[in-house]
Amino acid sequence: MNLIFLGAPGAGKGTMADMAVQKLGIPHISTGDLFREAIKNETVLGKKVKDILASGALVPDDVTVAMVEERLAKPDAAKGWILDGFPRTTPQAEALSRIAKVDLVVEFGVRDEVVVGRLSTRRVCKACGKIYNVKTLPPKVEGVCDACGGEVYTRPDDREEAIRTRLSTYHAQTAPLIAWYGGKGLLASLEGEGDPKDVFARFEALLAARDAKAR
Ligand code: AMP
Repeated sequence: MNLIFLGAPGAGKGTMADMAVQKLGIPHISTGDLFREAIKNETVLGKKVKDILASGALVPDDVTVAMVEERLAKPDAAKGWILDGFPRTTPQAEALSRIAKVDLVVEFGVRDEVVVGRLSTRRVCKACGKIYNVKTLPPKVEGVCDACGGEVYTRPDDREEAIRTRLSTYHAQTAPLIAWYGGKGLLASLEGEGDPKDVFARFEALLAARDAKAR
């Protein structure tokens, strides 16, 4: 199954995708993680996008689409994938439709003020990308990743000014994709606020309802 998780930064796409990987057995592909990995490894791509990510602006479409196309061609993506953070613009969605067939787009709806609150308390593992929140989902040992022992830190773009840029970019460039995918009959919208376990239960119910309908 080829899935897209859509929603504002901080809507919970990454957390839900991490949970869904175990249920569905398909990889979680986060373009933000891929860019951060490139920055960490100081690759040509990483050097090109470092300042863009820190500011909260979007990486140009051609660069992003090329990276996604390469990632989707890897063997582990043959059975399906969950795309998190891509597409973020209509040209990206159009490019994706030429590369692969999308089965379902799940939109996680969260109010802006909730997003700002979540992002300012979000922490991420520098090594494996696992997502934490100091208020709702802290690591067992402060600053240390439960999964890999890596350093749990605050992303440079989870600071106030970059959060505002990312939110306004989301509304201007990404939110139009809700109607775009809706028009293609691919969209399901879920309430994204509340405990992550409850949000995931809504996602599971959505999949179960789709399965029942397909039978
Ligand atoms: P995320 O981890 O999804 O919040 O992404 C972090 C940052 O990576 C974004 O603020 C952008 O700078 C960049 N980025 C991630 N995905 C995309 C995309 N699909 N198009 C353009 N830039 C992206």
